Amino acid sequence: MQAILDLVRDVPDFPRPGIMFKDITPLLADAAAFGGCIDALCEPWREQGVGAVCGIESRGFIFGAAMARALGAGFVPLRKAGKLPPPVIGVDYGLEYGLDRLEIGTHALAPGEKVVVVDDVLATGGTLEAGRRLVERLGAEVVGASVVIELAGLNGRARWSGDLPLHALIGY
Ligand code: AMP
Repeated sequence: MQAILDLVRDVPDFPRPGIMFKDITPLLADAAAFGGCIDALCEPWREQGVGAVCGIESRGFIFGAAMARALGAGFVPLRKAGKLPPPVIGVDYGLEYGLDRLEIGTHALAPGEKVVVVDDVLATGGTLEAGRRLVERLGAEVVGASVVIELAGLNGRARWSGDLPLHALIGY
């Protein structure tokens, strides 16, 4: 995990003052580190019969699509409002400042299908939790979530649901 850690760049005051942005693009550009990262993200889900990986826009698409390929699962995008063609369902969720909305195509998942929700960074946890709610509203089963980076100081894990596994490669 040290190689992965070394390739995450801290960018102070981006995109707003006071935010320490975790830039994962150097990690993506390093073939060995990116491959190792995808292997490690997939590890908990290999024997779980996962049918779909749901990646959260936009950096969750990058990790989620590679994981889907490695797990032999489908990939389903969870997108910001207005990006997916109808029919969609959506959930609104609170951010540090204001509200946001995540949507999924209504036919994207089968009832009972096993799903892993994926994003790059867990901060306050609102985004990942919104992803879980969306998947469950389609009647699919969330088996857990994976993130590359957990900003543990923001306690986003507490917002994730009950006993469902939440797997993070790196904690700060
Ligand atoms: P949250 O809903 O607060 O857990 O925020 C998680 C979402 O915001 C993820 O989609 C991340 O890509 C993004 N995010 C939040 N904080 C950061 C950060 N410090 N660096 C990079 N991305 C972040």
